[in-house]
Amino acid sequence: MSSNYIAPKNIEELCMVLKDKDDRTHIIAGGTDLIINLRKKGIIDYKIIDISKFQRFKTIDFQEDRIIIGSCVTMIELENNEEIKKYIPALTSAAYSLGSTQIRNKATIGGNLVNASQSGDTIPVLFAYDADVRIMNSSNEYRYEKASDFVSGIGQTSLRDDEIITSIIIKKSDSISAFSKIGSRKTVTISKINCCGKFDMGEEDRINNAIIYLGAVGVKPVRSDLIENELIGFKLGQGLNDGMKKVIQLQIENAIPNRNSKHYKKVATIGLIEDMLSQVRGDLRI
Ligand SMILES: Cc1cc2nc3c(=O)[nH]c(=O)nc-3n(C[C@H](O)[C@H](O)[C@H](O)COP(=O)(O)OP(=O)(O)OC[C@H]3O[C@@H](n4cnc5c(N)ncnc54)[C@H](O)[C@@H]3O)c2cc1C
Repeated sequence: MSSNYIAPKNIEELCMVLKDKDDRTHIIAGGTDLIINLRKKGIIDYKIIDISKFQRFKTIDFQEDRIIIGSCVTMIELENNEEIKKYIPALTSAAYSLGSTQIRNKATIGGNLVNASQSGDTIPVLFAYDADVRIMNSSNEYRYEKASDFVSGIGQTSLRDDEIITSIIIKKSDSISAFSKIGSRKTVTISKINCCGKFDMGEEDRINNAIIYLGAVGVKPVRSDLIENELIGFKLGQGLNDGMKKVIQLQIENAIPNRNSKHYKKVATIGLIEDMLSQVRGDLRI
């Protein structure tokens, strides 16, 4: 093992190496983005701090009112967790849709968030659930930030050089949710557009309240008030009417007016919303 690889054994050691962290030193969790990015940029002179062995970053803690997901929890662990499926179905679905089985075995939720790709699949889910990010610095001090503020642009977050994410915190709720995506292939595909919807249901399968985030139509997931308003009172099982389809298209026009991709994204988003609504209907019947 070279000295360019550091695997701190406890928080004290981790804080020490974070204090000394320079521009050529990178945190690694699953490595599925980091290693590819370093290779793409032709960077061969680097050091890595491996946090993937920290048990405390690998647990999912279900408390009375909230769920604390360790930053190094992998997609496979999320996808297979029955409680996550119960409380945050969209996260199960997003984790399941990410990459191949091999990738999902390594890819972590913290890595997905910090990588802050436009097409990151868990990010719209974390935004829709108003998740908090717990961040630790080299002095073992903590700060909290909303995931939607933490990600500031493509590949950009508020993370400082001596900080890591320790966990992501989501409040428990009775909401039901769904995630849908479209890529250039049917499976193992990066999202061309993705979508998370979180719904509060009323009587007779009617939507009382909706939160909708669309990914890959802006530098970070975009919340759609237009679609949300249109869905209030919508009864699951009905098809989207022409007025609703127009509103969805208008939302995409507003988000990416100058992109050629807006034409197919308008059609694709109608399909994503329909898919999410039918997932929710299916879940309510289980
Ligand atoms: C073939 C392939 C297919 C893929 N398909 C998808 C897909 O469909 N959808 C999708 O969203 N992504 C996809 N990805 C991207 C990638 O797998 C995910 O973004 C993954 O969740 C990254 O997690 P990781 O643990 O591997 O991150 P790493 O590569 O270890 O790290 C990514 C970045 O985050 C930083 N980092 C990681 N953890 C922390 C932490 N706790 N605190 C601070 N910084 C941290 C690293 O320094 C690095 O900058 C794919 C990648 C590959 C190679």
